[in-house]
Amino acid sequence: MQLLKDRIRKDGKIRAGNVLKVDSFLNHQMDIELFGEIGKEFKKRFADCEVTKILTIEASGIGIACIAAQYFKVPVVFAKKSQTKNIAGDIYTSKVESFTHGRVYDIIVAKDFLKAEDKILVIDDFLANGSALLGLSTLVKDAGATLVGAGIVIEKGFQEGGELIRSQGIRVESLAIVDSMSEENGVKFRD
Ligand code: 5GP
Repeated sequence: MQLLKDRIRKDGKIRAGNVLKVDSFLNHQMDIELFGEIGKEFKKRFADCEVTKILTIEASGIGIACIAAQYFKVPVVFAKKSQTKNIAGDIYTSKVESFTHGRVYDIIVAKDFLKAEDKILVIDDFLANGSALLGLSTLVKDAGATLVGAGIVIEKGFQEGGELIRSQGIRVESLAIVDSMSEENGVKFRD
């Protein structure tokens, strides 16, 4: 998606540890006009699929998922990051290792909001090592629901997540795939 790639080139900041900061338009301050275009693009790419629900993870995925959901006309469920050690009750849970914070946490979704008849599109801001996406796909599997695919805004193609997730037969549509990034050469995208 050219508009997105141009914006990353213009406003993205490369940080130590292979972190791309897009705080000024994607995951702190949010450019809602751009989000609208992102939502339309996801709708176009998954036009062949019946989607009954969008699933994302707090916090950065929520804004993107909500705007996209206006084009799919379906509800959004976001997995909560749980601090509690003793998780009980009617929930699906899974573990995710945070790429940016380097720790493992539990994610949870109430069983009421994921049903076997659901056709789930997962939406997230980044795909790096794939832990977040794997955790979300586990919740979908445990619910007996169908995972239609994953819509990712920025995939860091030099990390292993994309290959890992696709090798499991999960359809991944990334709007911008970064092949390399460095202070000297900037961000290079896959065509
Ligand atoms: P993964 O689980 O695929 O390793 O990482 C995905 C999650 O880590 C995303 O939900 C995103 O919040 C965060 N993340 C991974 N890489 C980056 C990055 O380069 N920049 C930012 N801002 N977030 C990232």
